[in-house]
Amino acid sequence: LDADEFRRQGRLVVDFIADYYARIHEYPVRPAVAPGFLARQLPETAPAKPEPNALAAALRDVRDLILPGVTHWQSPNHFAHFAATASNVGALGEALAAGLNINPFTWAASPAATELEVVVTDWLGKALHLPENLLFSGGGGGTLLGTSCEAMLCTIVAARDRKLAEIGEERIGDLVVYCSDQTHFSFQKAARIAGIRRGNFREIPTSRESGFTLSPKALLAAVRADEAAGRVPLFLCTTVGTTPTAAVDPIRELCAVLAGHDVWVHVDAAYAGAACVCPEFRHAIAGAEAVDSFSTNPHKWLLANMDCCALWVRRPEVLTAALGTDHDVILKDPSAQDGRGVVDYKDWQVALSRRFRALKLWLVLRCHGVEGLRGFVRAHVRMAAAFEDMVRADTRFEVPVPRRFSLVCFRLRSVVVGERRRRRDDAAANELNRRLLEAVNATGRTYMSCAVVGGVYMLRCAIGNSLTEEGHVREAWSVVQEEATAILATAAP
Ligand code: PLP
Repeated sequence: LDADEFRRQGRLVVDFIADYYARIHEYPVRPAVAPGFLARQLPETAPAKPEPNALAAALRDVRDLILPGVTHWQSPNHFAHFAATASNVGALGEALAAGLNINPFTWAASPAATELEVVVTDWLGKALHLPENLLFSGGGGGTLLGTSCEAMLCTIVAARDRKLAEIGEERIGDLVVYCSDQTHFSFQKAARIAGIRRGNFREIPTSRESGFTLSPKALLAAVRADEAAGRVPLFLCTTVGTTPTAAVDPIRELCAVLAGHDVWVHVDAAYAGAACVCPEFRHAIAGAEAVDSFSTNPHKWLLANMDCCALWVRRPEVLTAALGTDHDVILKDPSAQDGRGVVDYKDWQVALSRRFRALKLWLVLRCHGVEGLRGFVRAHVRMAAAFEDMVRADTRFEVPVPRRFSLVCFRLRSVVVGERRRRRDDAAANELNRRLLEAVNATGRTYMSCAVVGGVYMLRCAIGNSLTEEGHVREAWSVVQEEATAILATAAP
């Protein structure tokens, strides 16, 4: 790595990124490309020798070949899924971590990187009003992983090993895990990797009446039925801000019904955890004092560029008992050998090697401040409320589930009001809304996604990008209205 060359090339890349952001709104949000479009334009093998001015030539290809084929997640008109927020310091923090290229797998492998992660996870936990018992300062502790799926996997494995130590390893086939039918599929994946039998994965149905949240009564009934059949309840994954509709499971009540059943309770707050930075949303995690672990993705709604999932556990020793490796004398520093006050983060995750994510999150917290993050979240919630008002003002549409945080779910009504009141059947209404989403996204002017809950297809407008302003939200609604008018003109009565 040559310092002068790095300076020169670094400027090229920074200018490139800045130019991209200056023009990002000019791209169609979602590209209109067919599979294989890029491979056809690139050579079949890597160059044998470096090209002259290779970086500049490659950047031209990024501009001319690659950018026209990406979905522009940072576009102010991107309202699909949940946002992956970006910020100057989030991106530069990533660049800094990549530039330093440190691998803080143990305290000894990079003391300051490890200690910064300890500090910054406590900072973030306090900013989110997490219970003290999840923070290092209260006997728990946090770490920064890449994704929520990793957080789920690590915590299931911790719960599994603790339970098997009690009941015997041969009973792994009896362990049962619980969630609702709204839980993200990554939980199922994590449970499978952790060795939970497919037949012991309980996805408890939710209903429209309960707002698609997990019912404590239904959970208790499932747990009791498993216990009566000789199975062993192990783990509950609750969600604060489900992916389809941002529903919030009642943590306090769920923990209460599990008291005495020795089930590990995890909170997956991948998206909505960020909202807890605002005191007015703290109620979403009421009762979290009783949970065993909690995770959220600051890369979703807290300005930390991809990737960053913060996981906190109440008893770090249970996690490290499951994921720790002890025979690696070479990795340990003799001065830290007694382990006092030393965190070896390799024992908190699946892999040995890890990225220096704390740097980016620390920069975000320092440069925006907790008040800045509150303002960021509140602005999006206000825009979502404005979008909801626009939907409700158009009698052709309905908001089938309450808006939560910055997510609005909406659809063309199945009951058509007007001169002749009539009802479309459910399948026809779903099909109409599916066509509407396709038409809206085909314009390239905005990009939304969908959810199907309780058999009802709805469009999702998830506000959360750094560049999104009220004008973009109004423009998105105009696109929806225009496309709805066109589709209804041709729709079967
Ligand atoms: N949980 C929820 C509620 C989500 O919305 C998502 C993704 O959007 C995930 C988990 C998966 O997150 P990850 O990609 O970090 O594993």
